[in-house]
Parts: sequence; structure tokens; C-alpha cells
Amino acid sequence: MAKRDYYEVLGVERSATTDEIKKAYRKLALKYHPDKNPGDTEAEEKFKEATEAYEVLRDQEKRSRYDQFGHAGLGGPGGGPGGYDFSGGFDLSDALRAFMRDFGMGGGGFESFFGGGQQRGGGRRGAAHQRGGDLQIRLKLTLEEVSRETVKKIKVTRMVPCAECGGSGARKGTERTVCPMCGGAGEIRKTSQSLFGTFMNIATCPRCSGEGTVAAEPCGKCRGDGRVKGTSSVEVKIPAGVATGNYLTLAGQGNAGPHGGPPGDLVIVIDEIGHEFFERHGFDVLLDLPVSFTQLALGDKVEIPTLDGKAALKIPAGTHSHKIFRLKGKGIPRLHGHGRGDQLVRLIAWTPQNPGPEEKELLRKLGERQKQAPPKPGRKVYDS
Ligand SMILES: [Zn+2]
Ligand SMILES: [Zn+2]
Repeated sequence: MAKRDYYEVLGVERSATTDEIKKAYRKLALKYHPDKNPGDTEAEEKFKEATEAYEVLRDQEKRSRYDQFGHAGLGGPGGGPGGYDFSGGFDLSDALRAFMRDFGMGGGGFESFFGGGQQRGGGRRGAAHQRGGDLQIRLKLTLEEVSRETVKKIKVTRMVPCAECGGSGARKGTERTVCPMCGGAGEIRKTSQSLFGTFMNIATCPRCSGEGTVAAEPCGKCRGDGRVKGTSSVEVKIPAGVATGNYLTLAGQGNAGPHGGPPGDLVIVIDEIGHEFFERHGFDVLLDLPVSFTQLALGDKVEIPTLDGKAALKIPAGTHSHKIFRLKGKGIPRLHGHGRGDQLVRLIAWTPQNPGPEEKELLRKLGERQKQAPPKPGRKVYDS
């Protein structure tokens, strides 16, 4: 079935302001809300369609992508952190969540239209589905892994929907029923009198945690929670160039919500492992390479490690200790940018530790022959 144009769905001009879009959506959502049309699948579709259109057009970035590329501009991976993945369709709980977010409790729009004590449909239509918690995982990466795009499989232990009851928390074959304590409103209203007048105190219903429904006969496997602990592996693609503290958010990969509520997010925090011989400086890597005095004095060609394997480095004759050579583009790729940093190689004169008698004699002779004394202290010494 072809998707309708979002502006057409909401009945607004393409030049509509965000405020006009919000108003148009609110009108449609209140008309087609499942609580007002129990069992009416056509209304449910209309509600979902309007909410999907609203979710795109209220968001400046998504709206401009839609304006430029149409529905195709919103497909693909993710839909962005915290967003909905429109490529896989938009389900009712997403739609209800979006509606509640902008017009729900506290906004004054919801209760005043539907009335506090109205019965709600059973099943997953709660007053307010509880969202599952976010999970945070630290992911250790070596410098080699950081220097290229890496795909990692991570084992995640998280709450997943209970297979026995399908996530509802109600024993197999039974349904969730309207909460007897709040009558399905998900909240308890208490009025209190004081010197300053009458106060209305609204609290989340403790019996149903604000969901409006309860499982009269809880599922034995999940004890009515609708979730069980499960371990699964998640594949994450890490872009090249990340550093400790960078994080990626995998929307909807966190803990499942109780009683079929939407899942939280999985946040992967990068933790770079220190390297055996490379030291990271931004996108450059520094290698300290010990070499002998004679290699520095006479020149040599040496093999050095790089992030891409071995490379050759030519030491010119007469090189001072601590001289730094720069290997362009052999560093770490710039995150979300172009090109790579450099590899710096610092040559450090290595002094023999236990010279034998013959070696000592040669060194003594060398010292005597070297009439030319080292220069006076100064910053210029190693600048060659
Ligand atoms: Zn269960
Ligand atoms: Zn309740």
C-alpha cells in the first residue's frame, strides 16, 4: 500500500508552522484515539498514520529530509538516535507513546477529553506504558580496532518480553483487566483542603504503576512483570576514530518495558585499551623507537610498526636523539571526518648497559677522538 503524503494526512499546507502541525495532529489524534474507538481497526490505522506524520513534521531535521526526499529520506538505519525507525513501520505503542509525550499527563489535553475514570481497552492499551530502562555497556577496543571501522558482537543481559505470556504479564489464556484501584486512569486524584483553598493531588496509581491495567492472574513464568532476564548478542558497528568516552546509542535495544511497554536504549561507551608501544595524541600516534648511537651517527634503515603493519624508516646520518619523524596519514582516521592523523616516530638514543671489555675500549677510543664537544645547552640542539 502506498504511503500517503504526511501533509495530506494531517491536512496542512507544506508551509505550515510547527504550531499548526501540532494543532492539526491533536485534532486527528483525539478523533481516532483507540480509547475513543475501541476495536475499530480503521481508526487505529488512522491514529498511527497521523502520529507517524506528526513525528516527522514536528522535527525540523526529519521534516527537511522528508521535504527533500519524501518517504525514502526517512528509511534506512535507525532514523537517528532517539527516533523511530520508520522503515519497519510504526506500531501502536510507538504512536501512543508519542501522543502521551506531547498531549498526555500534565499537558491537560488528554484527561480533559477522555475523562479520568473512563474504561480503557484491555491488552496493551494502558494509560501510560512504562518504558524499559536504558542499559549502558563499556566496550573495550584496542588502538588497532579504533583505527578502522569495527563490527563487534556484544553479549547483553537484559530484560526481554516473556515468551510464555507474550509480554502482557497475564497468565496464558487470560487478559489484562482494568485496574480496580484507579479504574484504568493510571492515576489517583486526591483533593485536600487547606487554608489557601482546595488542592488536587495527582499521583501515579501504585497498583498498576500508571498503566491502567493489571493482570488478575499473573503469568507464572515472569510473575506478572511481562519480562524475563535474557542474554543475547548484539552486533554493533563502531566507526573508525572513536576515543574513550565516545558513545553510541542503539535505540530500542535496552531493557524491554514491563507488560509490553516500549524498550529502553542500549548505550555503548567506548573504552580504549592502552597500547603496548603507541601513544595516542588526538588522531596522531607516537612511537618511541630506541636506536643505537651508531645508527644515529652513521645512518640506517629500520623497520617500524604502524597501525597498518610494518613500514621502513630511513635514519639519515648525523641524526640527533629525540628527533621526530612524521609519517603522514599513518595515524587514526578522523571520526566523521576525512583523512587520518599521522604517525610520529621519535628516535631515542639507546645506551649500552653492560658493555664488555672490547666494547668499552672502542667507546673510550671514540670519546678521545671526538674532539668536537657537544654544544652548549639550548633548545636548538635537537631541532635539526
Ligand atoms: Zn510471562
Ligand atoms: Zn491503577
